[in-house]
Amino acid sequence: MGLMRKRRGEWSWSERGRITAASSMAIHPFSFSSVPSTSISSPPLTTHSLFPHSFSNARSLSISAAATLQSSLSPTPAEGQENSGIPMKGSKVLLKGMRYHELEKWVQSHGYRPAQALMLWKRLYGNNIWAHYNEEMEGLNKDFKGMLAEHAEFKALHFKDMLTASDGTKKILFTLDDGLVIETVIIPCRRGRTTVCVSSQVGCAMNCQFCYTGRMGLKRNLSAAEIVEQAVFARRLLSREVGTITNVVFMGMGEPLHNIENVIKAADILVDEHGLHFSPRKVTISTSGLVPQIRRFLKESNCALAVSLNATTDEVRNWVMPINRKYNLRLLLDMLREELCLKHNYKVLFEYVMLAGVNDSIEDAKRLIELVQGIPCKINLISFNPHSGSQFKPTSEEKMIQFRNILAEAGCVIFLRLSRGDDQMAACGQLGKPGEIQAPVLKVPAKFQTAVEASA
Ligand code: SF4
Repeated sequence: MGLMRKRRGEWSWSERGRITAASSMAIHPFSFSSVPSTSISSPPLTTHSLFPHSFSNARSLSISAAATLQSSLSPTPAEGQENSGIPMKGSKVLLKGMRYHELEKWVQSHGYRPAQALMLWKRLYGNNIWAHYNEEMEGLNKDFKGMLAEHAEFKALHFKDMLTASDGTKKILFTLDDGLVIETVIIPCRRGRTTVCVSSQVGCAMNCQFCYTGRMGLKRNLSAAEIVEQAVFARRLLSREVGTITNVVFMGMGEPLHNIENVIKAADILVDEHGLHFSPRKVTISTSGLVPQIRRFLKESNCALAVSLNATTDEVRNWVMPINRKYNLRLLLDMLREELCLKHNYKVLFEYVMLAGVNDSIEDAKRLIELVQGIPCKINLISFNPHSGSQFKPTSEEKMIQFRNILAEAGCVIFLRLSRGDDQMAACGQLGKPGEIQAPVLKVPAKFQTAVEASA
């Protein structure tokens, strides 16, 4: 790939790594390279959005982090979506925003049989059709197709562009009806597993200090249809090229559990056995640690859960993940200990992005072992994706291995993952495009000043 860094924060792409909306379905210009990883065991997932970026003017913002977080905990609903009931796009219903039983009810309300709802569902999500247009509804009765043309909308997203990193990771940009842009990442892995990383919000309110998406602040929630369509699009586009997409991770833009209603609905649609039929264990919702929403999620969904931990003390976590000021480590971990007792054969995945001099000491490793005691879990150590404007530096590979070994010796199930797709800003936490007004950079605790200065 001909990616060139021009100057701070700017990139140019070679033509080979770029396709246009018009040609996307016809071109197969990319090949997968092997995974640049030192995993001791294959990591099942990517991580929650993770990586920082340019912070120009951010320090001069007067709003406090806590105020930002607090005010943004009431997200704007998705454009054109009813808060309950049938999702609409203009005067038409958005088909991909309905669970099967809702679609069936809607089809019946127009005088058609449930069997036709099932045929429609299978054309939307199954039988290798993944229909985007009414014209692709082969085999449906003519009247029924006419009704769909009049009352239903198939598409929730508009393809804008696709970029491919040298390791084969692809970043797809979609434009929404209101002109906002979201990003979806497709990560080809080994052993026939390909993962699609979907966004759940435009931007994010959580302001994790290592995350580029967090710089944007929250623009709005995505509707269930906008979430589901990212996975459908990935299957439609890439199944012919690289085989089936096997895993979905909610680790793109946004804090999924801050948009819990639409995320749970989208997850239900993704795992429906007559449709996309992803295994619930292969659909992972990742969170920064919203305690009440995690409780609800664990009760209502069987999909997998990942929690971004990223620190072993409240002091560090309050800084790098301000949500910790509301739900601290103890609250978060006690709740998981309690809730996971009630789940059968279920493990949470803790994600831990390693930041040099901040959370990667031997003491951190020992504290981490203590913190996760009694919680059925796996731990994913993730290499931080450094880039211009970041105030953090990645931990060296040698130190990551040492950290991993301490945890492994204590009996933890642990994976090590290096970055994917970072040359196309497709790595987790590199998604999005902060505008002029950015979420504030928080005060660095005195004892980490040196580590941060060393990264500058
Ligand atoms: S919760 Fe938001 S700010 Fe934090 S890592 Fe995820 S996307 Fe970034």
